Amino acid sequence: MEMHSNQSDKHLIAEFIGDQDGPTLIAFGSIHGNEAAGAEALQRVASTMRADHPRLNGRVYFFRGNVRAIEKGVRFIDSDLNRHWTPENVIRSLPDTAIPPHLSEDKEQAELLKDLDRIIKSAKDEVYALDLHSTSAEGVPFATVGDTLRNRAFAQKLPVTILLGIEEQLEGTLLEYLNNLGAVTLGYEGGQHYAESTLAVHEALTWRALVNAGIVEESDELRRFNEVLRKATKRPRILEVRYRHAITAADDFRMLPGFNNFDPIRRSQLLANDRNGPVVADEKGLVIMPLYQKLGEDGFFIGREILPFWLWLSGVLRRLNVGNIMRHLPGVHRSEKDPDTFDIDTNVARFFPLQVFHLLGFRKRRWYENRLVVSRRKFDTHSPFRKL
Ligand SMILES: [Zn+2]
Repeated sequence: MEMHSNQSDKHLIAEFIGDQDGPTLIAFGSIHGNEAAGAEALQRVASTMRADHPRLNGRVYFFRGNVRAIEKGVRFIDSDLNRHWTPENVIRSLPDTAIPPHLSEDKEQAELLKDLDRIIKSAKDEVYALDLHSTSAEGVPFATVGDTLRNRAFAQKLPVTILLGIEEQLEGTLLEYLNNLGAVTLGYEGGQHYAESTLAVHEALTWRALVNAGIVEESDELRRFNEVLRKATKRPRILEVRYRHAITAADDFRMLPGFNNFDPIRRSQLLANDRNGPVVADEKGLVIMPLYQKLGEDGFFIGREILPFWLWLSGVLRRLNVGNIMRHLPGVHRSEKDPDTFDIDTNVARFFPLQVFHLLGFRKRRWYENRLVVSRRKFDTHSPFRKL
């Protein structure tokens, strides 16, 4: 089917164009080159679509992520492609402004941006983006969701465990970049890299996303994919990320064996060792994505379950735009450069730090000494692609 053979065509697994005015779904697999299941699952969905050609109310694009790393079977070549989407990097890699690439992942990014730019600029309705991942350790699958109301609504239609706020801990993810352009995004960790069940849930998730986005019509056959997800998920729930243990190669980080995703942990429990000695939990909660492979910048995360009441409350507060009044409170200053960024003196504003700003739809940018910098998530409640 592919007629050209340059590198950028190695990214596109398939594209299906139905009604041009309908929504768009873009799915990525293997942004990390050692996570083969994502791209393979998209290939499966694509071949089913080629055989059955369902009527499409919209456009569908499936991409392979880091093709040079996939060829070598490694997570990345020079730099993690899923930490590469900072505004500075994107500007350097955009088609109009591209400068000669330096790192292998600069090339990957420039190739992907060429396609993404075209797809997003021509969208006439909502744009949805999926990013399929897998983990070194075995574990229950879950979705990672940037905390906007639109992302939540999309995620909550799926029978999956939802992890809110991981994007706050990571700079430069692909989905954060697409979120800031106004797309509804969902990341998905499908389980262990080589498990057949990982392929199965990735495939099921992609089909359900196509249905929930309104691109493919619901059917009994497709409804069955909900069962695949529910079974793998066991008990769907909503968690928030509270802590990330960042590491570098020099740390010589070694996770204690035997941890699985969402295992409960106590405060001060021994979780790992590094060259400075024991690494213990800062707070109680659930351990998330314990690192059992060599490459990576995240040792583990700690999360907690969020009660439905808080989700409801934050929905109400955000729709009422309560965030707007926060800048009138003592100790809170609005940035002159960006009206959606607040600088908070936590000596003065002691009683409403991060948790309250989270409720109101802000994310942490930096927290240093007595200053907390937060900014409002873009396109929390409205889509830039939907013209009224
Ligand atoms: Zn990954």
